[in-house]
Amino acid sequence: MSALYGTYARSELAFERGEGMRLYSQDGTPYLDFHSGIAVNALGHGDPHLVAALKAAADKVWHTSNVFTITEQERLGQRLVDATFADAVFFGNSGAEALECAIKTARRYFFDKGEKDRYEIIAFTGAFHGRTLGTIAAGGNPSYIEGFGPAAPGFVHVAPGDLAAVEAAITPKTCAILIEPVQGEGGVTAMTTEFMRGLRALCDQHGMLLVLDEVQCGYGRTGKLFAYEWSGITPDIMAVAKGIGGGFPLGACLATAEVAKSMVPGTHGSTYGGNPLASAVGNAVLDRILEPGFIENVHAMGQKLAWHLQQLAQRYPQYVLELRGKGLLAGIKITPPVREFVARLRDDHHMLAIGAGDNVLRLIPPLIATEADIAEAAGKLADAFAAIEAESAAAQ
Ligand SMILES: *Cc1c(COP(=O)(O)O)cnc(C)c1O
Repeated sequence: MSALYGTYARSELAFERGEGMRLYSQDGTPYLDFHSGIAVNALGHGDPHLVAALKAAADKVWHTSNVFTITEQERLGQRLVDATFADAVFFGNSGAEALECAIKTARRYFFDKGEKDRYEIIAFTGAFHGRTLGTIAAGGNPSYIEGFGPAAPGFVHVAPGDLAAVEAAITPKTCAILIEPVQGEGGVTAMTTEFMRGLRALCDQHGMLLVLDEVQCGYGRTGKLFAYEWSGITPDIMAVAKGIGGGFPLGACLATAEVAKSMVPGTHGSTYGGNPLASAVGNAVLDRILEPGFIENVHAMGQKLAWHLQQLAQRYPQYVLELRGKGLLAGIKITPPVREFVARLRDDHHMLAIGAGDNVLRLIPPLIATEADIAEAAGKLADAFAAIEAESAAAQ
């Protein structure tokens, strides 16, 4: 019996070490990683530059709290500002905390303008924003809210892609629209450029803020540094995490100067957020991701992956219903139950992937995946479908 909470349907598989695209189990078996610790290990496992940065930071000061200046955090914040729409950054330790800061910033902005009743946020069905009390209410998934007392008020949900429904949901209380440009957990649904532009236009028209959750789709994953770049718009606030620390817990809320100015001393805080260790690793991740050609290569590999998945869909139309996603955040809506398919890939083909809502198989490899890695993964997926086909033929 495990001493841990039973909140996860865990596999017994435990990994001993990792190298690049591969994780090695305790008996030395390599597993091809198209899971990345849920889109976190952007640079794979054991990246020498990241390891060196963490080791060097460990020999300095581990933690001071945010009441002192943390030079590595100042530097990381400035670099994120230079690379994005944002003018100011708040660091936390996770995606949910980044979202909490984003939601608080949006509401506080209107409070400061004397519009204290303007706190409602329009969010979307199929969204995932985290597991805190605030972010389960923002996500709106009833099965995550049930049993935890009254849901935090101030969120309404409409179907993604339906601009008319968004417009109809706007009231004098609406302060912001909150959306993942590519929904991750919900089923790997990419928003269209038109929809993202439509949301920006509605926000401008009604004086509302556009808040993006790029915790999963950001940090190069879609083939741009941030997914909003695909639509040519910019948000007012953006939550970032997962890839930002490459495996070290780190999250960030980015905002324009106009919006961030309401977050004055006393309004928000985090003991650990952006501590010297996390910020040193964050800077090392950014060193790699901002290397010339890195993100362009992610884009190219995303196209290779899409091509392989199209081949697979043609070969196994009975198992592959739909291809979704963008770049190296790819989804395949399949007919076999996705939980079983993920276990089959892992146990029989030594490939790690993850499910998403709507019976979608999610492929989220480290951003360093090569053409050979992608071809290998496609081969393993084909092998898994072939095995299912053979089993069902034998059963007849
Ligand atoms: C993972 C995720 C979160 C929550 O991040 P945690 O680090 O688990 O708190 C929020 N939003 C999106 C889009 C995510 O994928």
